Amino acid sequence: MSQLVQIKLEGSLYSVEKGTLLKDFLSAQKLKRTPMLAWINGQMKDLNENLTEDVEIQLVYTEDKNALHVLRHSAAHLLAHAVCELFPGIQIGIGPDIENGFYYDFRKDEPFTPDDLSVIEDKMKELASQNVPIEKVVLSKKDAIKMFANMGQDLKVILIEEKGGTEVTCYRQGEFIDFCLGPHVPSSSHIKNFKLLSISGAYWKGDEKGIQLQRIHGTAFFTRKDLSIYLNLVEEAKKRDHRKLGPELDLFSFNESLGAGLILWHPKGAAVRRVIEEYWHEEHFHAGYDILYTPHVAKLDVWRTSGHTEYYDALYPPLLSEGIEYQLKPMNCPFHIMVYNSRQRSYRDLPFRWGELGTVYRYERSGVLHGLLRVRGFTQDDAHIFCRGDQLEEEIKGVVILAKKILTTFGFTDFDVLLSTCPNNFCGAKGDWVKAEATLARALNDIDQDFTIDEGEGVFYGPKIDIKIKDALQRSWQLTTVQLDFNLAERFELGYIGEDGKVHRPYLVHRALLGSLERFFGILIEHYNGNFPLWLAPVQILTIPIADRHHEYAESLETLFRKNNIRTSVDKRREKVGYKIRDAETSKVPLILIVGDKEVENQTAALRIHLEGDKGEINVNEFLEKVRELIKNRSLSVNFLKEGYHQKT
Ligand SMILES: [Zn+2]
Ligand SMILES: [Zn+2]
Repeated sequence: MSQLVQIKLEGSLYSVEKGTLLKDFLSAQKLKRTPMLAWINGQMKDLNENLTEDVEIQLVYTEDKNALHVLRHSAAHLLAHAVCELFPGIQIGIGPDIENGFYYDFRKDEPFTPDDLSVIEDKMKELASQNVPIEKVVLSKKDAIKMFANMGQDLKVILIEEKGGTEVTCYRQGEFIDFCLGPHVPSSSHIKNFKLLSISGAYWKGDEKGIQLQRIHGTAFFTRKDLSIYLNLVEEAKKRDHRKLGPELDLFSFNESLGAGLILWHPKGAAVRRVIEEYWHEEHFHAGYDILYTPHVAKLDVWRTSGHTEYYDALYPPLLSEGIEYQLKPMNCPFHIMVYNSRQRSYRDLPFRWGELGTVYRYERSGVLHGLLRVRGFTQDDAHIFCRGDQLEEEIKGVVILAKKILTTFGFTDFDVLLSTCPNNFCGAKGDWVKAEATLARALNDIDQDFTIDEGEGVFYGPKIDIKIKDALQRSWQLTTVQLDFNLAERFELGYIGEDGKVHRPYLVHRALLGSLERFFGILIEHYNGNFPLWLAPVQILTIPIADRHHEYAESLETLFRKNNIRTSVDKRREKVGYKIRDAETSKVPLILIVGDKEVENQTAALRIHLEGDKGEINVNEFLEKVRELIKNRSLSVNFLKEGYHQKT
């Protein structure tokens, strides 16, 4: 007699034969829609599960975020399936889903061409339309290795040897089979709305000296609409690329003869940076921070004490001077610690909050450098907090509140907060970690900040909180990080004299809110498409005199604005007014004033607002007051003069 198991689904109880496939059970239920996955006793599984015990099931449909990840993983399999049919004998590497899409790595001597992409895409569509079921196959390790070896899939054999247990899970769709833990969507027909996006080089296991592979990137969505929205965003991102806008707007440049990954800030870019720095200093001053300045190099021994020489692989080779080795600094921490250790500290002195816009140098492979986002020399908006255990919670709260305030001022309001906990290889005592993690969580709860726990993703030296923001193109960027450090506190023997007269170890917190000024600037440029809000714009007001005889008046306006700390200039070129206006629009100056005979006589100007057009004649003093107010309030609104501004009639 066969055994039965009980299934609880949407409030109803069912009995089925033990070992029934979930998908067979579900197809008997005549559901209105096909689920993609299921939570089975709290675990995410696909419909290939055998029901071998009493279970509670919640079905997962296409709207669920988890389903989208799985769809993309299945799309990666479909890609490999298509490639294997089109290029017999090709070897396949790995193919995961990633943020915004998926990829698969292939080993093939001749490079894929852009034409190949459309052929592969067509093949994928053909396979998808055949509605091939995606099935789980469990094999013994020996059989799995034999099968992939027979197919000539040597890379898969390596993976199974390394990662496979006694039983190896594979997924099959038609002729194609892959070593994979799943889960997957039920059949190829769900993979309808996808697009292959690019081909790039990759290395087997990321090892540069290892086997060279070719990576095909793509994206997939459940609906055609979602796919087209995403593809539009990709197109828009290309237009806004800061590597294109930076030189176009004369903000910054790179120079091969200077060296890769090193930035030259031009006057306009530097003007924006200075505004960011001034604002940063102001907020930090208000939040009780003091500012430090520290050197760019230090004796190599400092980095031996900190552990960087041993564990950190982004160090430049040391410099030798008078027989002593010096190290270009990759971080600011040891310097701040030295300031702390420069005198005895008492429990009454704590906390210290010390900030520095500290420029550091890290060696990055030239292949991974990317505009302002990944560079070799950059300025962290760094700070270190030294505090007692009973102060930690308040300090963490303070950092998160400050980060959100500053990011909001720059126009970022969508926050995603992660709390990363103890990894497998951690330093210090586990008990300290548990206590610190609880303190971080309490701090976030206390300020009503939602957060996700990233289990085991802390750095080896302590738990951390990361804040990600979303930009105008819905891309996610991690900016803020707040990290506890048990390691450096130990290595540099930090201490303070407690109320009990004994020496205690303070907590050391590293934190950067914007990350680095370079990367943050790159993100800002793309977020605003170069149309910076008035308070950040490199040139805030440009005055265009119609003829030479209006220069004197234009210059008097320039002097007036400058006296009011407004970044301004006058276009005195002998060009037609229309040409100069177009030029001003291209360089994205927020406010343009045009002055001719009438304006000189009336002591007024004709105002034009970038992206909005002509606003008519304005009274200079009223205009100046409004502009000062908008800058002072760090107003973000693009149509900032529409309301509350009285146009002269
Ligand atoms: Zn897979
Ligand atoms: Zn640090």
